[in-house]
Amino acid sequence: MSKSGDLCLPGMVTRKVHTLVIGSGAAGLAAAVRLQALGISDLVVYSEGLRMGTSINTGSDKQTYYKLGMYGDEPDSPLAMARDLAAGGAMHGDIALVEAALSQQTFAGLVNLGVPFPHDAFGQYIGYKTDHDPKRRATSCGPYTSREMCLALTAELQRRKIEVQERQLAIKVLTDAARERCLGAVFLSLQDGEPQFSAVQAENVVFAVGGPGGLYATSVYPAVHCGGIGLGLEAGALAANLAESQFGLASVKFRWNVSGSYMQVLPRFISRNEQGEEREFLREYFDSPAAMYDAIFLKGYQWPFAAGNVPGSSLVDIFVYIETVERGNRVFLDYRQDPPDLQFTKLAAETREYLEKSRAWGTSPLQRLQALNAPAIELYRTHGIDLSKESLEIAVCAQHNNGGLAGNIWWESRNLRHFFPIGEVNGSHGVTRPGGSALNAGQVGAYRAAEYIARKYQGSSDTEAEFQQALANCWQDWQERLTVTAPADKAWRVERQALQQRMSRAGAFVRVWEQVRTALDETVRQYEQSLRTPLGGMSGREVAETLRNQQLCLAAVFYLQCILVQTEQVGSRGGALVLSGGGERLHPALSEKWCIMPEDPSCRKRVMLCAADAAGQPQVSWEDCRPLPQTDGWFETVWSEFRQGAVFDQF
Ligand SMILES: Cc1cc2nc3c(=O)[nH]c(=O)nc-3n(C[C@H](O)[C@H](O)[C@H](O)COP(=O)(O)OP(=O)(O)OC[C@H]3O[C@@H](n4cnc5c(N)ncnc54)[C@H](O)[C@@H]3O)c2cc1C
Repeated sequence: MSKSGDLCLPGMVTRKVHTLVIGSGAAGLAAAVRLQALGISDLVVYSEGLRMGTSINTGSDKQTYYKLGMYGDEPDSPLAMARDLAAGGAMHGDIALVEAALSQQTFAGLVNLGVPFPHDAFGQYIGYKTDHDPKRRATSCGPYTSREMCLALTAELQRRKIEVQERQLAIKVLTDAARERCLGAVFLSLQDGEPQFSAVQAENVVFAVGGPGGLYATSVYPAVHCGGIGLGLEAGALAANLAESQFGLASVKFRWNVSGSYMQVLPRFISRNEQGEEREFLREYFDSPAAMYDAIFLKGYQWPFAAGNVPGSSLVDIFVYIETVERGNRVFLDYRQDPPDLQFTKLAAETREYLEKSRAWGTSPLQRLQALNAPAIELYRTHGIDLSKESLEIAVCAQHNNGGLAGNIWWESRNLRHFFPIGEVNGSHGVTRPGGSALNAGQVGAYRAAEYIARKYQGSSDTEAEFQQALANCWQDWQERLTVTAPADKAWRVERQALQQRMSRAGAFVRVWEQVRTALDETVRQYEQSLRTPLGGMSGREVAETLRNQQLCLAAVFYLQCILVQTEQVGSRGGALVLSGGGERLHPALSEKWCIMPEDPSCRKRVMLCAADAAGQPQVSWEDCRPLPQTDGWFETVWSEFRQGAVFDQF
């Protein structure tokens, strides 16, 4: 029996809190800290675990955090930064301005918690230029910036004694009947015994479940991270720019981007077929070894795949894709020795000068990596890969989703009130974004959502009856399935694999209308079947994974629907290439299939939206990008608006 009603779900515990945070990555943790600082003390974080998710389990060569420039006398301003955030197109100007304006506060908040961002002797926080960045706004704590952020934020949560419930998987976002207001969520305990459900009724839900890591088989998201965007889509929340994802070369045994110095030291690209025969396959595409090595070098700078770099360094991603996906071979980077025909004098001046200035003169890629970035070798060693003894298997992997659920300038869902998608699950970015702006957006979204909740949603509404009804509805859905014994042990693994492989085949960075259409139809069928999968006789963990498949399948249906529209109307842009007969031939050595559908540039002025209609089917629509606000405020006026709370009435 629940505390607050008559429901009789087996083992169900029901509780009520003011604000529920789902997810404990960098974004969710930051929201919890800020909420409590602003006086919201009836607060709880539910999460799969403090060690789960992308932020604490990932990193890169030099993991980047993007913020306003604050070094020397290089001028910067919120508007200038917002312009650069939105420059890739398909991004709203007002959201870009908020992300720019609050980047300083949120960065300072992390510094104050002890995140070791570097500064000089005068206390200036030094920056460097990252991709899509005309200034030196990027900073880093090294390979594990987001982990450092999580550790500092977790310590603060503990100091503040904020309650965290770990090993809890959200399986349903509860809403009112009209799907206009969020009421709470249902969780399943991640454990081996009997399934244990619990429900949390909440005035506000901060939804910080991360990016869609579980969608792709070929992925550099941490293996433990699946994400939960499907729950938000199921609840009816509007999404934006779902088709805009990033893909890039990464190692697959230990998932890590092979960007920067991993490429700049010029490793050999080896393909191995089923018979174990090896060849340096990139040579087939270049006129000379020097041209091949220059492309590899550039790939270090120009990670991830970009349609704008085709032809150019992104051809390397395509050649790896052909070798792995089309020919079924495995591709490795070999750092152990140079081929006899690598002549440094023949390389482009940029490549040569970089290696010379870095004193990376070694006679093997490994020696050069040792000179350039020794920790990069150590990193693999600590994960059981010795680059001096073995080659490194790679593939073109899914890495980030620029799109996600659509929020307003306070990160509240555009159509589901009291529901705040923050972090990677919020699709605030456009076609491209400066490197490091994902981490900034997560912190800014957390700050904004907390501020809005503390100012506008600090009270309590009477939603008891609607909450009970929503809970009863979802119980009805599951009741039948829990009484029917599941057909096979671990069947969820087979279903997960089928979904992920299909997404990697049809929804990754090479997109073809017919393949997407077929994949969409198959995924719709898989989703419908997942709704009927029996849950009886399973452990709690197996029920959780089976229900996780359900939200992943639903998410995949929405993503594929948007990707399909991209292949029909948008063309090749950002992180994806659309192939279509009659387009421009990509490279003389590639077959006719490799013709690109050019981009329709007018689509950069619009955001692609997607939401479920009354029947739950995804419907795509477009809206014009809102421009950058031209603010020329007067202190006394803004101060007065702030005191009266009028700033919180603007969306
Ligand atoms: C290899 C790699 C390199 C990257 N490099 C950069 C970079 O240099 N700069 C940059 O800005 N960004 C980078 N990113 C992206 C960035 O790391 C992520 O966007 C960011 O960490 C996401 O943070 P988050 O808090 O939104 O989500 P996460 O850190 O993924 O946290 C999500 C949380 O939600 C929980 N959760 C998920 N589903 C559920 C559920 N159903 N129920 C309960 N809990 C749930 C998870 O367990 C976790 O606690 C990189 C990403 C990758 C994969």
